[in-house]
Formats: sequence, C-alpha cells, structure tokens
Amino acid sequence: MFCFQCQEAAKGIGCTVKGVCGKAPEVANLQDTLLFVLKGVATINSKLREAGLAEPKVDKVIFDGLFSTITNANFDEIAFVIRIKKTLKVRDELNAKALEAGIVLPKHDSIDWTAVTGAEFEAKAAEVGILSETNEDVRSLKELIIYGLKGLAAYAEHAFNLNHENQEVFAFLERALAATTQDLSVDELVALTLETGKFGVEVMALLDKANTSTYGNPEMTKVNIGVRRNPAILISGHDLRDMEDLLVQTEGTGVDVYTHSEMLPANYYPAFKKYKHLVATTEMHGGNRKKNSRVSTDRFFSPPTALFHQWKKLVTATAFTPPEQADCQEQFTFQTVNPGSGKISTRLLNMPKFAVRQPK
Ligand code: SF4
Repeated sequence: MFCFQCQEAAKGIGCTVKGVCGKAPEVANLQDTLLFVLKGVATINSKLREAGLAEPKVDKVIFDGLFSTITNANFDEIAFVIRIKKTLKVRDELNAKALEAGIVLPKHDSIDWTAVTGAEFEAKAAEVGILSETNEDVRSLKELIIYGLKGLAAYAEHAFNLNHENQEVFAFLERALAATTQDLSVDELVALTLETGKFGVEVMALLDKANTSTYGNPEMTKVNIGVRRNPAILISGHDLRDMEDLLVQTEGTGVDVYTHSEMLPANYYPAFKKYKHLVATTEMHGGNRKKNSRVSTDRFFSPPTALFHQWKKLVTATAFTPPEQADCQEQFTFQTVNPGSGKISTRLLNMPKFAVRQPK
C-alpha cells in the first residue's frame, strides 16, 4: 500500500505498512483499484456525454465510489470488493453502449481491464496505485486533483440526498477523473487543479443551498454541553439529511440525541430546534480522533445506546475511527461508512430504515 491522502500520513510522507487512520493495506489496495475502475467509467461516460448519451445512473456510481475512499470513511474489504464488481459491471454496460453508438474511446487499461476475485482486485493495485506514476510532480498534481474530486463528490452526495444536483459538476467529475489517465503536462495539470478548486466552490454553494433551503439559515445558537440520564445516541458526520432522519425516527422514544464532533453545526439550523430530544453536543471537532471519541463517550454515566457514524464528507476532515468496545453498546453506520467487519469488536449494524430510505 501507499497512501498520502491526508495530513496524518506516516512521517508526513505516506502510509506504507498500515494507515495511521487504521486502514488495512488490503483495503488501501482495493481503494486504489476502485479508483482505477472509476477512471474507466468516467472516461467512457464522458465520451457518451459529449454525444448526448450519458447514463444518469453513472453520476451516483462515481460520486459514491470516490466518497467511499476518503480518509476514514470505509475500512471494509468486502464492501470494496462488492463495489469494484458493481463498478466493473456498469463500466462494461457503458462500453457496450459506446460500441453500439460508434464512439471511439481513448486507449487505457481502465476501460477494458477486468477480473473477478478480491485477490485479483487487490493485486491490480501494485500496477495502478499512486506510485505507478513515476514523475513526482505529475503524481502529486494528479493526486491533488483526485483528492479534490473526492471532497467534491462528498458534497455532491449530500446535496443529492436533498434533491439538489448540478450536471455541470457531474460532467466535471468525469472529465477530471478521466484526465488523470492521460499524459498531461505539469502546466495542464496545474490548470486542472485550479479548475477542481473552482468546482469545489460551486458544489459547496450547491450544498449550502440544499441545506439552507431545507433546514433554514444557520443562526447563532447556544449549545448545551451537558448530559442527561436518558438513553442516548451520538451522531457524527456532516449529512443533515441523516440528522433529520435520526431525529424523526427517535422522536417520542425517550432516546436523546447528541451531536458529536463535525455534527455540531446541525444545532444551528432552525429546522432542528423543534426536536426536544436533540439535547447537546459532546465534542468539538479537531485533535486526536480516538481520544475525542473516548472523551465524548466517557462523559456519559453509562455507555450511550448507540453511536452513529454518518457518511464522511471531506478529504481533509477527520472522520471515522473505530472506537473501543466500551465506548457504546452498538454502532450504526450509514451507507458508505463501514469500520470493517472483524476489525473491531463492537456490534456493527446498518440501521435498516436508513439503508432503504429514498431520496427526499
Ligand atoms: S488516509 Fe489513512 S492511510 Fe491514507 S495517509 Fe491518511 S492515515 Fe495514512
């Protein structure tokens, strides 16, 4: 494995044995292969888009796939094997569509490479991982673009959950991802990096509109930092749609909801103030994540009933760290987030109501 996508990279250079975040080398390799396959998908759909034939379902395949590889979002090998298989299937459908339409595709291994087993997927990473690009400047620029796209994808997903989307953003995601398979000069890559930043700002505006038009404009709010004696759920992450779903589903049950870490800003949105069981926040974001999780949960008189980890949102944001067993009685994760089966001893579940929900 080699990963240097976050500020916690070992020795400030890169994680090579195991992620400082806890990511296993097998997972890191599978993430590299998933990114490789996504580049193939992006390349083909980008060409189909030029011909007015883009497949709408591909937008979600790309932004979900990118999102699943951000720091601390997903530690589960099986989840990545399944995702790679599904992505390969979509890519093959796109290939067939392009062939039928007579569209000439660029030559790249990501367009036609295929494999079946998890072991083959993992082995492919040695060929297509970050270090496969030998020019350090080109490698750094390409990875900078990819990390920007990951963050962009995360915000696009949150907005999508609230029925806000922007086709220009989806088209750029494809075009930029496809460009990382090409031999581009440093100047061209710098220009693409700046364009990635521009689209990052656009997608932030899109998410802001989605959040504020749904939940109101954030306002100055005094947030309780105490604890009550009721059963409790801590919710972490950034997705306000998840927050709303949790509050609706726990209302009247006697369970209190506490925001944890990055979810603190949810307290500022007017729409959530009507929920009397949203009682407090447990921790400010920042610092040592594992310690934060421990400090947060230690403040309770007994372990909280559940700890919710939402989809994690930003490449640079600290996000999910598998907590110790005593931290809580159960953990639930939303969709992409998965701490990795067998990696921690607490009971892990995906809450069915959240797993099957429909877009708002
Ligand atoms: S995401 Fe994990 S493996 Fe990658 S650099 Fe950060 S700490 Fe290391």
